[in-house]
Amino acid sequence: MLTIGVDVGGTRVRAGVVDQHGEILETHRVPTPATSAELNAAIADTVRALSDRYAVAGVGLAVAGFVSEDRRVVRFAPHLAWRHVVVADELADRLGLPVVLEHDANAAAVAEQRLGAAAGARVAALVAIGTGIGGALVINGEVFRGAYGIAPELGHLRVVPDGRPCSCGKRGCWERYCSGTALAATAAELRQEEPGAPVEQTGVEVARAAEAGDPVARRAVADLARWLGEGLALVADVYDPEVVVIAGGVSDSAHLFIDDAREYYATAITGAGHRPLARIVVAYYGDSAAMIGSAALAREHALTEAPHLA
Ligand SMILES: [Zn+2]
Repeated sequence: MLTIGVDVGGTRVRAGVVDQHGEILETHRVPTPATSAELNAAIADTVRALSDRYAVAGVGLAVAGFVSEDRRVVRFAPHLAWRHVVVADELADRLGLPVVLEHDANAAAVAEQRLGAAAGARVAALVAIGTGIGGALVINGEVFRGAYGIAPELGHLRVVPDGRPCSCGKRGCWERYCSGTALAATAAELRQEEPGAPVEQTGVEVARAAEAGDPVARRAVADLARWLGEGLALVADVYDPEVVVIAGGVSDSAHLFIDDAREYYATAITGAGHRPLARIVVAYYGDSAAMIGSAALAREHALTEAPHLA
């Protein structure tokens, strides 16, 4: 059975036909339009460009925003036009196919837990480190979304009282110390200690400088490793996962910090040395994870509606 997964991002809509093994057969992409009506039309067109040529059983949308508990409504998405729109029903009517929605980090976690780096884990957490931190949790195969569809907001766990200010209104959030943005901020702070030194603008530039052996960039990466380990210990204290998948753009540089992060994690965890440790692994699917995960959810949804298709 084939399904279509659509990653609805702030800059582009990317759809792919995906089979039951997570293989992408073909993709189609368009820029993300500015209004809600245009966005719905663009997604419908993108899906049709594929469903015209493949027999598909359903569509899954991965959305960077708050999705209702029943996965039919997008409540709010900071970089998209939808505000309390029943996206699943509107698109199902247009396409004549079943449609499910999921938060993009949750969809990525589903891809990793069903088919990727956390395959088969009963309790798996995903920590997507990019501009900020996106978190997701899969328990016994089900996405955990809390009572109102918002959990888990791991990036805004406070790790430093009165620490760096965060766009969420708080201070000292985990993602202010463990993200691409944080990497650039830490490097800039360290550079102030040596006037005249070049200042990297982005986390990617800091990672590149660390790779080339620059001592200050390496200190900034070591600081990120420490905060990653500290934060993972908090996550493990609450959820006790079997596997934590490190995803997001910063995970491309994981070889620079993952061993140190594992060490910090193993020391910071409650009952250190006397309990099994979660495996800390790097994501398998990269930036296709949300598309593959939403296609997997569409498949599971279609099978629930029409079990004879299995
Ligand atoms: Zn915050």
